[in-house]
Amino acid sequence: MKPLNPIVAACPPSGIRRFFDIAATMEGVISLGVGEPDYVTPWHVREAGIYALEQGYTTYTSNAGLPQLRQAIVSDLSQRYAVSFDFATECLITSGVSQGLDLVMRTLLDAGDEVIIPEPCYVAYGPCVTFAGGTPVYVPSSPTFELLIDEIERAITPRTKAILVSSPSNPTGAIQPASLLAELAELAVRHDLYLVSDEIYERLSYDAPHTCLASLPGARDRTVVLGGFSKAHAMTGWRVGYICAPAPILELAGRIHQYTMLCAPHVSQAAALEGLRSGESQVIEMVADYDRRRRVFVKGLNEIGLTCHEPQGAFYAFPSIRSTGLSSEAFAERLLEAERVAVVPGSVFGPSGEGHIRCSYATALPLLDEAVKRMGRFISALAT
Ligand code: PLP
Repeated sequence: MKPLNPIVAACPPSGIRRFFDIAATMEGVISLGVGEPDYVTPWHVREAGIYALEQGYTTYTSNAGLPQLRQAIVSDLSQRYAVSFDFATECLITSGVSQGLDLVMRTLLDAGDEVIIPEPCYVAYGPCVTFAGGTPVYVPSSPTFELLIDEIERAITPRTKAILVSSPSNPTGAIQPASLLAELAELAVRHDLYLVSDEIYERLSYDAPHTCLASLPGARDRTVVLGGFSKAHAMTGWRVGYICAPAPILELAGRIHQYTMLCAPHVSQAAALEGLRSGESQVIEMVADYDRRRRVFVKGLNEIGLTCHEPQGAFYAFPSIRSTGLSSEAFAERLLEAERVAVVPGSVFGPSGEGHIRCSYATALPLLDEAVKRMGRFISALAT
């Protein structure tokens, strides 16, 4: 048989899924592994989906997505971040941020173009760049997971096309200060680079207000904002996200979307619209609950000796496990085996993730308490 696509064949499977699959075969596991809300989608949003089905909304929508949904998204961004996009030409509804990332990379990149990605970072970034024919160039972040603007600048070559960032971050929970994002925007202007800003966790910002990268001086016309409903609206399975970007970029992204996806699911778009129009109080409640869990969990981790930089957003803690002398992979494997707690080794998020584990605290408080107890027992046993 002829060989399959060598670029895809060379891409390793997701390290997150590997641990999730092992954990699924074991009894009594507390999973802090998967980055997914433990909430079911709020009832009125599910009802809107059901009603859409009852109405017979089982057809395609326009390629770009329901106009009402696009209008609601751009007006929400404009109200909260004072950034304006034209719903008709600058907003496209996608099947999650995942599809948005893929579309954007295929739109921006020519073969061999480089994309600078500060790491530790979400596992899909590198593969999306590679699948689009580009080359990911990883740049480490500071020990407190802030962007190192000088390092980013040093990594720029004549082939650099874009910088891909995410704030709040998966896996670290870090939020980039507005001043650093402004420096990043200034850098992009100076070197004529695109910025791709994955803002899927924007609503889950606990300590500081979210900064939309496109709202910063100079950024609007070179920034692609990716957003979605999976996290804050607890809608992972519905598969709805969006791209907001300058019209020339979106025009081309829309062309790929038109031929490869046609549109995001109609029923899901109707549900997302309800979430955006009337779901604010539930979003606020869920975010407050994640915040409560964050405080309890991070305090617990620090108390058992896993030093944890305070995550300010998303629903991840990224404690250091260096004191144990184990690699992050060995720590995660042995913790799962000995105490049945599933976490993700930091190394899957890039070289600077080594020495850390990622724990999702989108889990009920009693389970988080029990997980901390088990992890504490595991660490004490290691020390004896
Ligand atoms: N971007 C980041 C940083 C994520 O953590 C995730 C999911 O975990 C995604 C994108 C994918 O989100 P979606 O469900 O919208 O495809």
